Amino acid sequence: MTTKKEDYYQTLGVARNASPEEIKKAYRKLAIRHHPDKNPGDKSAEEKFKEVSAAYEVLGDHEKRSLYDRFGHAGLKGAAPGFGGFGIDLEEALRTFMGAFGGGGNIFDDFFGFTHQRRGPERGADLRYDLEISLEEAASGCGKEISFPSLGTCPECGGSGAKAGTSRVTCEACGGNGYVERRVQGFFGWSIRRQVCPHCNGAGTTVRDACPRCRGSGRMKRKKKISVKIPPGVESGSRLKISGEGEAGEHGASAGALYIVLHVREHEIFQRHGDDIICEVPISFVTATLGGAIDIPALGAKISLTIPPGTQSGKTFRIRGKGMPNIDGLGMGDQYIKVFVETPVGLTGEQEQLIRKFAELSGEKSYPMSSSFFAKAKKFFTG
Ligand SMILES: [Zn+2]
Ligand SMILES: [Zn+2]
Repeated sequence: MTTKKEDYYQTLGVARNASPEEIKKAYRKLAIRHHPDKNPGDKSAEEKFKEVSAAYEVLGDHEKRSLYDRFGHAGLKGAAPGFGGFGIDLEEALRTFMGAFGGGGNIFDDFFGFTHQRRGPERGADLRYDLEISLEEAASGCGKEISFPSLGTCPECGGSGAKAGTSRVTCEACGGNGYVERRVQGFFGWSIRRQVCPHCNGAGTTVRDACPRCRGSGRMKRKKKISVKIPPGVESGSRLKISGEGEAGEHGASAGALYIVLHVREHEIFQRHGDDIICEVPISFVTATLGGAIDIPALGAKISLTIPPGTQSGKTFRIRGKGMPNIDGLGMGDQYIKVFVETPVGLTGEQEQLIRKFAELSGEKSYPMSSSFFAKAKKFFTG
């Protein structure tokens, strides 16, 4: 696992606004230079190959790239412990490479005149699970139990696909190599092309007596149930990778990863802007005029806010540290409270009289904004 947090653009030597074609071209060049088949036994080349493949895995994918652009590595990782990092191993790097340039290994026919693909039992597929959570859960972090259909290891044969009491045997068609060789006309003339063995599908082994429960595949459809921990501060589009919780691999190969894509529900009274929370609160014209303390909802709490006398509609108060936690652990956002004055409706006769009385007693001094506005507007009235 590479855990170093290199800048993916730097790793591929491309600009941040590079086009998908430029990114693919840069990856192709670097991946071929450092490919383990071209540098047998060279550990530093292998590391380099993994690094550029990890970078391409992200920058070569529109969705992952935009997450990375917005949140950096944190957007891809899930900050809490227990989630797989985004560093990739050699197997994943090779898959990235094959995925980018065609699984047939054609790129090696063209560049080296042969192919080195050795498939073996295939790793399990990655799965995606869309999970909706509330804003409160996003703020505090939470544990969730999720269940989803998946391909699991067959409990009867333990994934081998062979009937109880028997085991897998070497494939006769390929002698256990998993591939067969064939002469083909390539880009630079004739070359030996290795092909996945069609008899054992690359596994190198077959079963004589298939397990009756999974019919020899070693895997079975089943419902999987797991608990996941959502770290505080996630937002819609945040993605958590849980290694090993995807589909089971073929005949004991490693399982795929589960990607949990989070969707944070809209909140009834809070709006989120990054790490900040905004809330619009109505206050009575009496509180706005005379001032007073009001109770304000905050995330997971109630706070008291002092409204000063003479507060106008639209005034925004900031309460530090009462917003969302930052996903990278960079503290808390703030809560903004925007007040507006609610004009009373449904007055009784007595209330109306009091307001009229108030109006009689009010002069320009009570309404400096109106006075100033109408002083300026006068010239429009007189033409
Ligand atoms: Zn089985
Ligand atoms: Zn075979």
